[in-house]
Amino acid sequence: MSMFYRSTRDDNVKVTASQAILKGLASDGGLFVPENIPTFDKSLEELSKMSYGEVAYEVMKLMLDDFTEEELKDCIAKAYDSKFDTTEIAPLVKAEGAYFLELFHGSTIAFKDMALSILPHLLITSAKKNHVQNEIVILTATSGDTGKAALAGFADVKGTRIIVFYPKNGVSPIQEKQMVTQKGDNTYVIGIHGNFDDAQTGVKKIFGDKELEKVMNSAGFQFSSANSINIGRLVPQIVYYVYAYTRLLANGEIQAGEKINAVVPTGNFGNILAAFYAKNMGLPINKLICASNENKVLYDFFQTGEYDRNRDFVLTTSPSMDILISSNLERLIYRVAGNSADKNAELMKSLRETGKYEITPEMKAQLSDFYGNYATEAENAETIKRLYEDTGYVIDTHTSVAATVYNKYKADTKDETKTVIASTASPYKFTRSVMNSIDPKYDAMSDFELVDELEKISNVKVPQAIEDIRTAPVLHDTQCEVNEMCDSVKKILGL
Ligand SMILES: *Cc1c(COP(=O)(O)O)cnc(C)c1O
Repeated sequence: MSMFYRSTRDDNVKVTASQAILKGLASDGGLFVPENIPTFDKSLEELSKMSYGEVAYEVMKLMLDDFTEEELKDCIAKAYDSKFDTTEIAPLVKAEGAYFLELFHGSTIAFKDMALSILPHLLITSAKKNHVQNEIVILTATSGDTGKAALAGFADVKGTRIIVFYPKNGVSPIQEKQMVTQKGDNTYVIGIHGNFDDAQTGVKKIFGDKELEKVMNSAGFQFSSANSINIGRLVPQIVYYVYAYTRLLANGEIQAGEKINAVVPTGNFGNILAAFYAKNMGLPINKLICASNENKVLYDFFQTGEYDRNRDFVLTTSPSMDILISSNLERLIYRVAGNSADKNAELMKSLRETGKYEITPEMKAQLSDFYGNYATEAENAETIKRLYEDTGYVIDTHTSVAATVYNKYKADTKDETKTVIASTASPYKFTRSVMNSIDPKYDAMSDFELVDELEKISNVKVPQAIEDIRTAPVLHDTQCEVNEMCDSVKKILGL
């Protein structure tokens, strides 16, 4: 074993991968980061002959090296099975010269399934390895997609309970329906009267509550996280970038060693950070293109070096990216600060206290792998419509942010490097916004009429996840104020 994880806020913390997965967040409020990033021990050609599960093993064994081969392979086999509606798991679709990496073929039709199908297995395995007796309480804030994917992953998993907080008025009707119809005796779903940042901040606060931790422990509980702050989320996300590259290689679309760009529609900065880690592991990536919606705090950050969340929170048609505090950026900040927990902790303190921080020119110079831009609501709708009319391919509102930003990138830089666009959700998850973009006449129809209409125009079968909620009864209707989140958790746990 040679891989350890450190906290971004305290140099004295050093844990194994399984311990980092169990804890989710470090006790000092920092995130766990790999001490150093291992490089592939197989060639890209070798990887290009492997299945998704086999590639997953090759990547994850390097990052989670205190798991045995048997443990990891068992987790992988349980995760990437018939829950996915294609054996490719993450197919590539070429349209308008770019490769859309469809990450939405799992059970809840958003890319969160890629990691949340495996996280429960990694977590249970980690608990066993570390002789944990407590029941594990997964506490999750969601901007819409993580919630359902985590609920689906953890429902009825022995030794766990899952509590999901979502912004009551900040998710799509289908996202909400998916969550509130969730089955499983160990699942709890609560709509908060606030936005995603409120939910995420509230959850982090509960994690950091030392008193509560003691009370929990004596009652036989401990918290963990299913958000992308958990390294057990991030590591499985590295896999599909490697998989996409090696499929392009296998299909003769690129030569071995040829660089590609990756465009990622970004909210909490988890998905794009996984692409950055893939690059560090040796995947030939040229630019990491960070696409934002009108909540363009990351675009401004890449422009100026100042991160400033003091601005209006915009509710957009890509709600899973309506985020002003991108948690995972902290992992990048720590790194460009020369892996300095002190420097990072100082910037995060500034973010907490003033809502902003500024990095030094030396730190900013290390961000040259990244390009940031954003898409307005109007541009986004236009991209969905144009792509559909030109090619017949229908993309969702988040993927459209990426496609729009990719076009801006090409216009800006004239870079013609082959490019993979992370397609993060099925259009069926955001049917109303997608259909309205194609033609405003659709707005008169009900949500499920729109689903049927989308099937007709796209020639893509309605996914099972949507069929499942057509008639499913609502099982969760709890709501609370932001300042009542902790009490809600205590009530659920009977504390
Ligand atoms: C969560 C999500 C994103 C943002 O991903 P991050 O890892 O938070 O940056 C983008 N699109 C969809 C559909 C999502 O569910």
